[in-house]
Amino acid sequence: MPIIQLPRRVFDGWGYSSRSVSMFVKPTSADEVQHAMRQAAAEGFSVALRGAGRSYGDAAMNGGNLVIDMTSMRRVLAWDPATGVIDVEPGVTIEDLWRLCLKDGWWPAVVPGTMFPTVGGCAAMNIHGKNQFALGGTGDQVLEADLLTPTGELLRISRTENADFFHAAISGFGMLGTLTRIRLQLKHLESGRLAVEQGCMRDLDEQFDYFEAHRGDSDYLVSWVDCIAGGSSLGRGQVHRAKYLHADEDPDGKVLLDPARQDLPGTVMGVPRSLVGAVLGMFNFDLGMRLVNIGKYYASRVSPTSAFRQPHVAFHFLLDYVTMRGAYQPGGFIQYQPFVPKETAKQAFKDILRLNQSRGIPSYLGVMKRYRPDTFLLSHALDGYSLALDYPVTAQNREALWKMCYDMNEIVLAAGGRFYPAKDSVLRPQDFQRSWGQERISTFRALRHRADPERLLRTEWATRVGVDEAR
Ligand SMILES: Cc1cc2nc3c(=O)[nH]c(=O)nc-3n(C[C@H](O)[C@H](O)[C@H](O)COP(=O)(O)OP(=O)(O)OC[C@H]3O[C@@H](n4cnc5c(N)ncnc54)[C@H](O)[C@@H]3O)c2cc1C
Repeated sequence: MPIIQLPRRVFDGWGYSSRSVSMFVKPTSADEVQHAMRQAAAEGFSVALRGAGRSYGDAAMNGGNLVIDMTSMRRVLAWDPATGVIDVEPGVTIEDLWRLCLKDGWWPAVVPGTMFPTVGGCAAMNIHGKNQFALGGTGDQVLEADLLTPTGELLRISRTENADFFHAAISGFGMLGTLTRIRLQLKHLESGRLAVEQGCMRDLDEQFDYFEAHRGDSDYLVSWVDCIAGGSSLGRGQVHRAKYLHADEDPDGKVLLDPARQDLPGTVMGVPRSLVGAVLGMFNFDLGMRLVNIGKYYASRVSPTSAFRQPHVAFHFLLDYVTMRGAYQPGGFIQYQPFVPKETAKQAFKDILRLNQSRGIPSYLGVMKRYRPDTFLLSHALDGYSLALDYPVTAQNREALWKMCYDMNEIVLAAGGRFYPAKDSVLRPQDFQRSWGQERISTFRALRHRADPERLLRTEWATRVGVDEAR
């Protein structure tokens, strides 16, 4: 069927703040992907690849053109419980992985804060978990993959085969071709739960000291930041660190390797899970969120340090059960997540928090994580920290919010930082260029020219930041 006659639908980013209508197909094989590509080329349409659509902004959108929805390529091709090596089609989700492999004692080594993204989307963005500082991102878990370029070439990519494409397609936001098969190494587990410690942090200095003191002896580290508190409490919050448990430390944890025992409890802080989003939605305005942040901080002070054991799913995927996204309608929200080297991160984050407060546009939710550098060409990872900040978007604040984000970009760039395509809604070509630098971008463009000389692959994000345009 001609592209123009294909079904259309509205595609949005997870934050709801970007939306557009596209034609779409849902291929079930690499051949069908290639057929859709060639047909789009013949008819003059560009093509965006889309996984589960969990990127916050416009990274998997392509208004007026074709979207190839990869979610129907969802077969597990091979699984070896002896080694934890799995071969999957790209539409297999993080949830599919743990539901299949946990009973054999394996877990996806890198997971985001939601279980619904596809493995293809995670590899294309080289996503990170709360353990990036220890194990790296998804790319570090990929042993090899098949990359189908728009020219129709099927490249086996790995650290030793077509290594340039391997290091560029991972973190290449779907601009070098379609990942049609991915081989991952999973992480061996002896218990279905983690040993978790939480600690109340009085300011940003304490948060940084905690991360540096514990990154050597933690498997996961993450911290909530109260972005509304100012003065001597700037950057206060609560940190969580977790460690894997060995069988002899936690003999009772073995039964939790049963996936059915991982599902979350029915209530969160006494509120039925189904109502948590609605209850939080009632506070979804500046004063309400001030109260929520104050309440959360003082609740954390009741037991400034505490330790408990928590199933993996509850530790990682709480956001899937307490989703706030509906509460941000109709304008949606954006997440701004800069990555800043360890030497400059603390000052940059203080400057950002103060800027937000002085403009009267505070972030409703702040989350800090620690990273290590990796080998992927356009990766966001570096030896430092990220601070993810959620902002509601309204008709009234949109212009001022974007202006503030541009000013935050200046702080991040002056500090030697980077941004994250999976979360971005505000980056401009000059920011993209300055952040990754001419050399990396030129190398990427050269690979793109080989894989996609017609520039068939496009997303709204890539067009917005000028991935193809020399400046
Ligand atoms: C609640 C929530 C929490 C999150 N937490 C985290 C987190 O902790 N850490 C983190 O790093 N991210 C996090 N994210 C972001 C999310 O992990 C990434 O956006 C991820 O890329 C989404 O995967 P997806 O399958 O939805 O891909 P999409 O968002 O649909 O697409 C992402 C990119 O992958 C490309 N792509 C998709 N499939 C393929 C393919 N087969 N071949 C080549 N390219 C492809 C697309 O073109 C696009 O550029 C979170 C998102 C949500 C909604």
